[in-house]
Amino acid sequence: MRKHLVLVGGGHAHMVTLENISLFVEKGYKVTVIAPSFHHYYSGMGPGMLGNTYLPEAIRFATKQVVTQQGGIFVKDRVVRIDPVKKLAFTRGGSQFAYDVLSFNAGSYVPMESVPEDRGNIYPVKPIEKLMEASEKLKILFKGKGCTVSIVGGGPSAAEVAGNVWQLARAAKGYLPKIRIFAGKKFMARFPASIRCRVFSVFRKRGIEIIEKGYVKDVTNDKITLENGEIFDTDFVFMALGVIPSSLFELSGLPMGPDKGLRVNKYLQSVAYPEIFGGGDCIYFENQPLDKVGVYAVRENPVLFHNLMASLDGTSLEPFDPGPDYLLIFNLGGKIGILKKNRFVFGGRLAFYIKDYIDRKFIRRFQNIEKIN
Ligand SMILES: Cc1cc2nc3c(=O)[nH]c(=O)nc-3n(C[C@H](O)[C@H](O)[C@H](O)COP(=O)(O)OP(=O)(O)OC[C@H]3O[C@@H](n4cnc5c(N)ncnc54)[C@H](O)[C@@H]3O)c2cc1C
Repeated sequence: MRKHLVLVGGGHAHMVTLENISLFVEKGYKVTVIAPSFHHYYSGMGPGMLGNTYLPEAIRFATKQVVTQQGGIFVKDRVVRIDPVKKLAFTRGGSQFAYDVLSFNAGSYVPMESVPEDRGNIYPVKPIEKLMEASEKLKILFKGKGCTVSIVGGGPSAAEVAGNVWQLARAAKGYLPKIRIFAGKKFMARFPASIRCRVFSVFRKRGIEIIEKGYVKDVTNDKITLENGEIFDTDFVFMALGVIPSSLFELSGLPMGPDKGLRVNKYLQSVAYPEIFGGGDCIYFENQPLDKVGVYAVRENPVLFHNLMASLDGTSLEPFDPGPDYLLIFNLGGKIGILKKNRFVFGGRLAFYIKDYIDRKFIRRFQNIEKIN
């Protein structure tokens, strides 16, 4: 029987493997990709899509098309659990898949348990598809009377979302909304003062309010309540509270890191099951815990591709080296960016255009695969 490679999720760390599915097929391996959506959206351009800088089609990768045109099988479903002993993956739709080698790139999500079931105008900042829906709703809201948009969370995704909501509203030429960021005790706390000051300065000029009075206790469709009891009215809410890996590792009894991500060794391989690999936000790299940024998912690509093939071929694995400090650029909307590399920081239009250039180049490279095969 043909050896079977199952890819769980078609995220940023699986791009090179997806690009090379035909190589697996030529060698006689069967490849199945299980993902909940026909497309994968590039998160680095997500806030820009929210702000209308990019169309949804410009920032996505046609996963299903790329898989099937190379002879792989695409299954639109979500893996909910695996049985690592029997080597079976189970999906929400009730199917099961036997595998010889399996790789997880199932990403991370914003926990929404504290939010009411009726989430009319409450949106998580991930999955990125949600930002597309939010953008359409906001355009309608901005046409009416003045409104308030709240962003719960104090990190870079809160900053990027706030800045791009402002851009969207300005372009709508209706009433400018009140935009409030509920940043806990300190906005952008893990970043140096050089970055924080720049973000504060940009947002102050735009009238975006940053609230650092403490954590949010309760969120409903029209109210934000702080732990100190203070209540704020709202019309629309983004939840940007930080992300956690999928619960599927816990449900599968797989060894995990403290963040409940799949615990992997230097080969991006499960520490308990050598035929299981993973990359991106859903792993805990035990040699050196990694930030949950797309940069690492992208850097993991060639190693993950090599090791999946090597594992099927029975040849040697390659170690993953996370590499040096990475370039960070925040898109604050209004074509303003803030760039950080090591200790070097600058802000302004140039920073935005550098990000725009890098991001467009990245997505174009993978969108080109749709045409080649
Ligand atoms: C608003 C925002 C802006 C960001 N901007 C940047 C940036 O500019 N630069 C940067 O480096 N990082 C950025 N990040 C961080 C970045 O989003 C993540 O680090 C990156 O998405 C991780 O890639 P991933 O492939 O692991 O996960 P994801 O991008 O989340 O992809 C996971 C994939 O798996 C699929 N999937 C999920 N669950 C299952 C399941 N159970 N079964 C099968 N498939 C599943 C999903 O549909 C998705 O396609 C940003 C994050 C946010 C929220």
